Amino acid sequence: MIQHSRVVQWLVTGLVVAITLVAVLVVGWMRVYHLSQFVLQDAAQRQRAALERIVDQAQQTLQGATGWVGRPCGEVSPSLQAIGTLAPYFRSIYLVSRGQLYCSSVVREPQQIDTVLPADIVPMLTGVRTLLVPGTPMAHDQAALALYVPTSATGGVLGFVDGIYLTETLRGIKSRDLAWTAITVGNLALTSEAPQLQSAASATRGAQIVLSSERFSASLAPSTTLLRRIAWTQAPVFLTFGALIASLLGLLVYRHLGPEQYTRRQIADGIRRDEFKVYYQPVMSLADGRCTGAEALVRWHHPEHGLIRPDAFIPVAESNGLIIDLTRALLHQIRNDVATGSLPPGFRLGINLAERHLRDTTIVQDILRIYGPLRDTYPLVAEITERYVIRDTSTARHVLSELRRHGIDTALDDFGTENNSIGYLKHYDFDYLKIDKEFLPVTEDDALTRNILDSIIDLGMRLGLMIVAEGVENAMQAEYLRSRGVQYAQGYLFCRPVAFDELVHFAIQHANAALVAVKTDVKPKRRAS
Ligand code: C2E
Ligand code: CA
Ligand code: CA
Repeated sequence: MIQHSRVVQWLVTGLVVAITLVAVLVVGWMRVYHLSQFVLQDAAQRQRAALERIVDQAQQTLQGATGWVGRPCGEVSPSLQAIGTLAPYFRSIYLVSRGQLYCSSVVREPQQIDTVLPADIVPMLTGVRTLLVPGTPMAHDQAALALYVPTSATGGVLGFVDGIYLTETLRGIKSRDLAWTAITVGNLALTSEAPQLQSAASATRGAQIVLSSERFSASLAPSTTLLRRIAWTQAPVFLTFGALIASLLGLLVYRHLGPEQYTRRQIADGIRRDEFKVYYQPVMSLADGRCTGAEALVRWHHPEHGLIRPDAFIPVAESNGLIIDLTRALLHQIRNDVATGSLPPGFRLGINLAERHLRDTTIVQDILRIYGPLRDTYPLVAEITERYVIRDTSTARHVLSELRRHGIDTALDDFGTENNSIGYLKHYDFDYLKIDKEFLPVTEDDALTRNILDSIIDLGMRLGLMIVAEGVENAMQAEYLRSRGVQYAQGYLFCRPVAFDELVHFAIQHANAALVAVKTDVKPKRRAS
């Protein structure tokens, strides 16, 4: 048998399984990352929307107060206090005129107001509309978001949204998937973690999503458990999927590299590269010692493993169907050999068929197409071994009758080796019966084998079949067969399977009476059906 490395088979299979698992894990990890980004993006969108709502609403409130700018504080103070109290989010609202605070929602008396605009608010007069401030005029150490709606170059409405609202909103957005959320304006930030202002750079270090607008940036960072949580939800799917794909691929690769497939590929390559050669074993007429035909036996000239006997590859070729191609290739060789015309006319050539050949009439078409009219001069005998069970008896019967209709004789090969021998004889019409070598007595006093052999010969003759004895190795066997009326024999006693040139040489040497005999050689009697 051709060597096949199990180590390579297991190694490659293991490698494929490992690579598949790694690939599935990588894809799984990418999916986890993608899902985490999705979660973060979603949280960031909600965060920005919530902050936008606060700022929008606050700005609308301030907008509503712009009509009071420039009017005396005593006159507008009640209205200012009303919105300062009732409008959500605000800590305080101020009216600004000539660059000074002159009216507040928090104190009733204008003289109680510290009119000086805090230094960090001053830029708001020159275009900045939103600012994070560490404190407000009456609450110096409580952070707030300052909003300013100008009405002129030096006047407008200034409002402070309490930092607590912002921190609470940021905290509301933060879930177990987030480490923190933050709002950044300029280089200051307020986070979900504390109501104090921090420098934006340090507060938002490690931010993974930053959504910026004109007024502020919303940023957040994932919690350390986010990836783990998503990984756990995805793990069952990916592990099941990975295990399935890996085992499926592993199985495919394992089978692909298995001995069956390996030999199959080798055989297919061998057919393509013309490595299969036909050898011929002469078949002798026992009555007069003439060589009347030969059996074609295949040999594989393997480039690495040398000469391989058919038993090592014919069963594989049969089981995978390559026997059809192989037989076709052999028929081409036989045709080329025989077409040289070097053999005596009437020389019969036996070809071995397999069970596969009896499943449809392809073999009949192949013989007619390839061997063609040569069979008139060099008749073919199709040998059907009984070693394999024929599945579809009626199709097999049809194939055999088609062969015979086209002048191709049939032989039942290896008769007696299996226990359905008699069944074969009953179901199918054969012209020849080939007795297997195991039924030839080895010694003079081998009475048991002799009795079996006698019965087989008797049976063959009663059925009107021509008998060929195989594996004849000594003169005692040949003489016994001849004395019992067996017509033909093949075996090492006469000749081993040889190349065509040697067969020609042998056939000519043993054909003295052949030319005469061909004329008188009656075709074997058909079995009476
Ligand atoms: P088989 O058809 O029974 O062929 C006879 C086998 O007996 C051959 O073995 C032959 O070399 C061997 N043989 C011939 N004379 C003697 C002898 O005196 N003593 C001993 N001990 N053996 C002898 P081989 O060539 O190895 O073939 C083995 C089997 O392989 C064949 O058995 C046949 O069933 C199969 N086979 C060979 N060639 C082909 C082919 O082209 N197609 C198919 N389907 N099967 C083939
Ligand atoms: Ca045979
Ligand atoms: Ca045989």
